Amino acid sequence: MSYGHLPIKELLEENRLHECDGVGEDHVCVRIASIADLPTRFGDFHIIAFWNNRDGKDHAAIVRGDVTGAHDVPVRLHSECLTGDALGSLRCDCRDQLETALTAIGQMEKGVVLYLRQEGRGIGLTNKIRAYGLQDYGYDTVEANEALGFRDDERDYAVAAHMLMSLKVKSIRLMTNNPRKLNDLTRYGIQINGRIPHIMPPNPYNEFYLRTKAEKSGHLIDFKGKAHLPEQIDRPIVQGMTDEQVRALEEHSNGS
Ligand SMILES: [Zn+2]
Ligand SMILES: [Zn+2]
Repeated sequence: MSYGHLPIKELLEENRLHECDGVGEDHVCVRIASIADLPTRFGDFHIIAFWNNRDGKDHAAIVRGDVTGAHDVPVRLHSECLTGDALGSLRCDCRDQLETALTAIGQMEKGVVLYLRQEGRGIGLTNKIRAYGLQDYGYDTVEANEALGFRDDERDYAVAAHMLMSLKVKSIRLMTNNPRKLNDLTRYGIQINGRIPHIMPPNPYNEFYLRTKAEKSGHLIDFKGKAHLPEQIDRPIVQGMTDEQVRALEEHSNGS
């Protein structure tokens, strides 16, 4: 399957000297720093690393096709999770969410996964493991949640919005089950022309989603009674969920 090529030279040249007032209250500004081909098991992509003026982290975009000047580009926001994404941890479903997004976009003509380097929702690996440890030693998930530092996502959306602007994406369709996220990105100047439900195929590792219900306090209890903290900004729908379970997820997403 052929796919378009990004105007790499132009993007790098423009970004070399890019400066702007920034996005949002924190005046977040990002620049494209490097671009390379990234063939993957999910399809052929470009990977693009960004510099930013705020957190010293190299956020990345995994880009399918030529998205510059494109409309209605499918986009997924993913927060880094070393334990899930790379190690296959079953304490969360981050890897399934990431693979589902890459598989879907890898079969499309164009699309973008923004890979935001905010392990444990921005608190870092050490604190995330601390929160896991609290749970292992019998602390409840409220305390563990506090240790995980659930925080406002505003800056993350500012970074994401500017990354899409740097790629010259004109409008997007966001892969999410959470309508509130559409408003947040829109506030930072991204034109959103639609929502693509984020639906994962069932497998042994996300089975707990199918056998449990979403809890108002923001975590899921699996059928062994073990709590799982949500690490991604919004939850996937797993094929096979009942309507009631889907509604519970959506209600939680709206209320969070
Ligand atoms: Zn800027
Ligand atoms: Zn995770």
